[in-house]
Amino acid sequence: MHSKSKLRVGMVGTGFMGKAHAFGFSAAQKVFDLPFEIILEMVADVTVEAAQRAARAYGFNQFTANWRDIIESREIDVVSITAPNALHKEIALAAIAAGKHVYCEKPLAPLVADALEMTEAAEAAGVKTQVGFNYLCNPMMQLARAMIAEGELGEIRSYRGIHAEDYMADAASPYTFRHDPAGGGALADLGSHALATAEFLLGPIGDVLGDCHTVIGERSDASGTKRRVEVDDVGRAFLRFENGANGTIEGNWIATGRKMQHDFEVYGTKGALVYTGERLNELLFYETGAKTGRQGFRRIEAGPDHPPYGQFIVAPGHQIGFNDLKTIEVAEYIRAIGGQTPEPFNFRDGLRIQTLVESIHASSRERSWRSTPFT
Ligand code: NAD
Repeated sequence: MHSKSKLRVGMVGTGFMGKAHAFGFSAAQKVFDLPFEIILEMVADVTVEAAQRAARAYGFNQFTANWRDIIESREIDVVSITAPNALHKEIALAAIAAGKHVYCEKPLAPLVADALEMTEAAEAAGVKTQVGFNYLCNPMMQLARAMIAEGELGEIRSYRGIHAEDYMADAASPYTFRHDPAGGGALADLGSHALATAEFLLGPIGDVLGDCHTVIGERSDASGTKRRVEVDDVGRAFLRFENGANGTIEGNWIATGRKMQHDFEVYGTKGALVYTGERLNELLFYETGAKTGRQGFRRIEAGPDHPPYGQFIVAPGHQIGFNDLKTIEVAEYIRAIGGQTPEPFNFRDGLRIQTLVESIHASSRERSWRSTPFT
């Protein structure tokens, strides 16, 4: 029997996203026909105990408390970075210099200058990259994009996007890496997803007018020390798209009661689409051409007609979930490493999102519109 060549993975960080990446790498080869056999080779965390626990739970062959062991291992082909944002650049540049492919969680780096350096290093080295904007892998998101592109909504006039959750709503919740003045804040953490979705659906954003607010100005860190918070708890922007449409986005991590409001609404001359991340297997479609008295949003439910849903489940309406989106993202990335497809969302795409985030912050400070040129 012909055996596939092996692709060995090293992963740095074993928290929320570490688990999602490990799940994605394990599931992807069961769900999809991939060009490689994936081996979970080595996992790193801050302590040996945490790394060992993750190695046992997720099935990595080796574990370490020093992520540089992953870089130095000649066996490892691809490095997953699921560590805090401030570490993304150092780990990615080291991995690229060692000739490894890099899959980095969003935001790509705290600052545009860092993201640019990482992008140029990866392109010069010719390694394949991926940034974790998994919501774009949702079959319903792909369907919405196709419907817009095929003219089912007519001319697109306006857009509303939001990513709101409430994990920072409690003023007593601790100061974390997400509050780091270099690159933290709700706009970078959640608004980045809203921006990625906006451009995925409608194409490039030309100009932004930002309005960002720090609402909870002080939090205690893990040691109980009070820390001043400078980053935004709520970041909003008015948008002008290059196709003439106008819109808004919001990133908000103090949205009491919201757990996963990654939502969008698109309004066109012939129809409209409404989506919420809290019901990620549904898309609501309104058609202006419906009979009088019969108008209204109708619900399209995800099913095998919306690839790659059918790879997971043969029956419609049974629903895929967050970890499945990560599995789709992993599979698309592995295909790109195998040369079968272009990289779906590479470092240059991640840099673009970082440019939008930084432009919105600057616009908010200056209280004026900013254009967002491609870097
Ligand atoms: P987390 O705190 O749950 O996990 C971070 C992990 O990194 C922890 O295990 C921590 O111990 C480890 N770590 C810290 N320093 C390290 C070091 N020097 N070496 C090795 N490991 C180290 O955080 P998270 O929520 O998983 O976020 C991690 C990244 O994932 C962030 O960049 C975040 O923005 C991103 N994220 C993306 C999504 C998404 O939907 N794509 C969702 C959540 C988080």
